[in-house]
Amino acid sequence: MFDYLIVGAGFAGSVLAERLASNAGKKVLIVDTRNHIGGNAYDFYNEAGILIHKYGPHIFHTNSAEVFDYLSKFTEWRPYQHRVKASVDGQYLPIPINLETINQLYGLNLTSFELNDFFASVAEPKEKILTSEDVVVNKVGRELYEKFFRGYTRKQWGLDPSELDASVTARVPTRTNRDDRYFTDTYQAMPLQGYTRMFEKMLSHPNIKIMVNTDYREIINMIPYREMIYTGPVDEFFDFKFGKLPYRSMEFKHETHDKPVYQSAPVINYPNDYAYTRITEFKYLTGQEHTRTSIVYEYPQAEGDPYYPIPRPENNLTYKKYKELADNTPGVYFVGRLATYKYYNMDQVVAQALTLYNRLNEDYTMDLTESIRKAATALPKEFVNSTLIAPLTNVVSSNGNGKHDVK
Ligand code: FAD
Ligand code: UDP
Repeated sequence: MFDYLIVGAGFAGSVLAERLASNAGKKVLIVDTRNHIGGNAYDFYNEAGILIHKYGPHIFHTNSAEVFDYLSKFTEWRPYQHRVKASVDGQYLPIPINLETINQLYGLNLTSFELNDFFASVAEPKEKILTSEDVVVNKVGRELYEKFFRGYTRKQWGLDPSELDASVTARVPTRTNRDDRYFTDTYQAMPLQGYTRMFEKMLSHPNIKIMVNTDYREIINMIPYREMIYTGPVDEFFDFKFGKLPYRSMEFKHETHDKPVYQSAPVINYPNDYAYTRITEFKYLTGQEHTRTSIVYEYPQAEGDPYYPIPRPENNLTYKKYKELADNTPGVYFVGRLATYKYYNMDQVVAQALTLYNRLNEDYTMDLTESIRKAATALPKEFVNSTLIAPLTNVVSSNGNGKHDVK
């Protein structure tokens, strides 16, 4: 009998499998429909021997020391600060929009101070920032919005920015200094030997069994388990009872070129041309040296495997109905980007999974405290003294913060 059946071997499922097995001594079966572990973060060496990300570029960044320390148990890191350019008006300009972007675009020589005034002169101030259009025009005005954001967003989401929550374009800041890094998080690094190797280490515990090429529905009636952790799409779990939750899909077109370098930046965005949104050249991310180079184009799609929850009010309302159902489904825990319908980065999913683990662990601790109490009350009174109870409760309380094994 497995204590847990975990559906999905991405970050959400793998973190929980690892914690439950190595920290709580639970027996876990983790299944995935795909033929590999790692979920969307899966990477592998292609035919040319170049490390690539099957499902598009995955760059790790976080402000959470807890998340970074946790993952550091399973990988060493390669420091990496991500940089992106956007192809606009025949130039490759740094994005997020910063001092250099504006000076290059308009052939100016502004200072940071003057750029502030420039933004103020072109911005369309909004009283309420509700949509992804509001976010950008409120800061940098309509012209820059149209050059950098409108076309990209329409391609990426199949919607106009005015139809999307503010949170989507708010992921990309605007700066008045020269900082051209895509992220400013405290920790920015790539797993030294890749994501898949890191996942292998997480899952290499004798209490964890892995089944790939397996939809959980094929095995739930054959394999006994106590509880389930589900990381797939939440609407699918409930047979689309409240209708389909829209997820944006993506096609990834991989190519390898017979030259050492393909483009001038790790990622180049194409807001206004082509059907793809961006091209990524992997060697920048991984630091690998090779005489050839591999790239990937991302073509957003309406249909296909779910990749992105689509943040907008009507979808959030539908999700709320599923969430209520999920909250009232005993013995099943929903976690991760698809199961909680949240546009989460990897670190946020890790944090969400660790939070769920701590909650489950508290429950075991409470169960344990209760059984100690019951065992103690079953003993004759003279045996129930502080020397008997104290050492046990010590173990229980140190388990409570997840630092020691629960035996
Ligand atoms: P997933 O990785 O999607 O794992 C869920 C797993 O469940 C899947 O492997 C799926 O096959 C499996 N599954 C579903 N249904 C079933 C079923 N019925 N039976 C069995 N298995 C099932 N984040 C960053 O932090 N930085 C980035 O640079 C970044 N870039 C990204 C680029 C792209 C193109 C995309 C799509 C995402 C990117 N992300 C990035 C986000 C990142 O991929 C996610 O935050 C993270 O992978 C989510 O992990 P998860 O475990 O929730 O989901
Ligand atoms: N975006 C844009 N132009 C860009 C970069 C981003 O319009 O050059 C918008 C677009 O809507 C995108 C969102 O900002 O979906 C978030 O960008 P991010 O790079 O975080 O997307 P992800 O890596 O998650 O696909």
